[in-house]
Amino acid sequence: MNMELSRRQFLKTAGAGVAGTTLGAMGFGAIEEAYASTIKPFRLVDTTEVRNTCTYCSVACGILIFAKGNLAKGEKADITHIEGDSDHPTNRGTLCPKGAALLDIVKSETRLQYPMIRRAGSDKFERISWDAALDKIARAFKDDRDANFIARNKDGVTVNRWTTTGFLAASATTNETAWCTYKTVRSLGMLVFDNQARV
Ligand code: SF4
Repeated sequence: MNMELSRRQFLKTAGAGVAGTTLGAMGFGAIEEAYASTIKPFRLVDTTEVRNTCTYCSVACGILIFAKGNLAKGEKADITHIEGDSDHPTNRGTLCPKGAALLDIVKSETRLQYPMIRRAGSDKFERISWDAALDKIARAFKDDRDANFIARNKDGVTVNRWTTTGFLAASATTNETAWCTYKTVRSLGMLVFDNQARV
């Protein structure tokens, strides 16, 4: 009997959603109710788990993100928990204090979630679409490069420099993304190139 009770308690504590009835069956209904009220449901029940990378630094620790809400059913997704990925070779489940507080970034009211623009002469930012933002960036790149690209220095030596526009990339990307970014930036002749990991 003791082993049976212990197993049921474990299942409840682990959030299996199984209502323990052993105490009730034994005539301890009130005790069972009081006991059940002390058990918090397991926080990862009914969540969707996805892998990702910590956004903060170039260590690029692996994280697991747990979200509630089924998008396929029209529900709003809500990230409820983030923890280190124990299968990730870099951090093996650990996170530094910044990474451990990643949920605060997600929930932050000041987190930038879409492109914003402050037009010339305006004192406020306004939201624009990704298409509009990318078109504007491409236009600005082209115009500035056409006006300021330096093919040769004063001695006639080919230098192919573009020093009037800079590029700030993300360190928490895949090797493939970093490779493509580097090739794109350098092939344009851009010299001013950095990311947030150079702290
Ligand atoms: S958890 Fe800490 S060490 Fe790991 S990537 Fe994030 S900020 Fe860097």
